[in-house]
Amino acid sequence: MNPSLACIGGTAAYDLLREGALVAKRLGPQNSPFGDSQPIYLCESRFGQFYFLSRHGERGYDLAPTFVNYRANVYALKALGVRAVASWSETRAISHNFKIGQYVLVSDLIDETVSRTNTFFENQGLGLVRQWPVFCPSLRTALATTLGEENFPYTDQGVYVCVEGPRQETPAEARKYAAYGGELIGHSLAPEVFLTRELQMCYASVCYVAHYAETGSDFHPFENGRVLQPAQERQRAAAAVERLPRILERLCDVLERIPGICQCESSMADYIARGQVDTDWRTWFNHVPSEAHSNSSVAS
Ligand SMILES: [Zn+2]
Repeated sequence: MNPSLACIGGTAAYDLLREGALVAKRLGPQNSPFGDSQPIYLCESRFGQFYFLSRHGERGYDLAPTFVNYRANVYALKALGVRAVASWSETRAISHNFKIGQYVLVSDLIDETVSRTNTFFENQGLGLVRQWPVFCPSLRTALATTLGEENFPYTDQGVYVCVEGPRQETPAEARKYAAYGGELIGHSLAPEVFLTRELQMCYASVCYVAHYAETGSDFHPFENGRVLQPAQERQRAAAAVERLPRILERLCDVLERIPGICQCESSMADYIARGQVDTDWRTWFNHVPSEAHSNSSVAS
């Protein structure tokens, strides 16, 4: 039976896989009507198998979030039989109430991206899907149980502002996001979270705080193009990354022991009930972009 859990991770997570900290067999990019996905791996752990998708490719950070083919990635995981996606990414905290190296199970989202296709249903009159709860409550509970059982520091509350990038925020932008309730800044969660909902999958985000957002001060000096981060903070962020294999392994165990109850699998039920789409999700897409592209082409 194919695994029902997948992790979508960034460059630091992929480095763990490359270094052998995750035992994995490369399945490679998967074809979809929206182009090729990023490479997918089948991972083995003590408590079960899961998929890993490397969001930014296999040569380091060679594909900025703006240019990731999110639709191809989500479609490919759905086609493999994945029901739950644990999204792994780093984040920059606006508030110093968050500590470097701490995990955050993101609880709400503000989408500030401007050039990403955020639906599978272009020109189809579909996709009017409720966005509450934003993240799957049962997968969030499973992640909280996982982090709690491992005694890893986490909070289950945090409002994430997804910005376009690849550049970082200006100080005024960070203040603006804070003014309307944003607490964390990152590039990765939108439109993944919206696309997984359209395909009736569970999705939850576990972020680790790697930096603080731009303040416009010289408290952390800037040198040779990088913010100089105190060694202790760097070590705490690195430790947060290194625990990923253990988190995913334990998550497999928790999901096996504590089956969740959520509404994610019925997010398109109203369209199905009204006969606007078939019960077979593969038939939902009558629009295939004429420029159906590979993962190296411009935003999808
Ligand atoms: Zn769910």
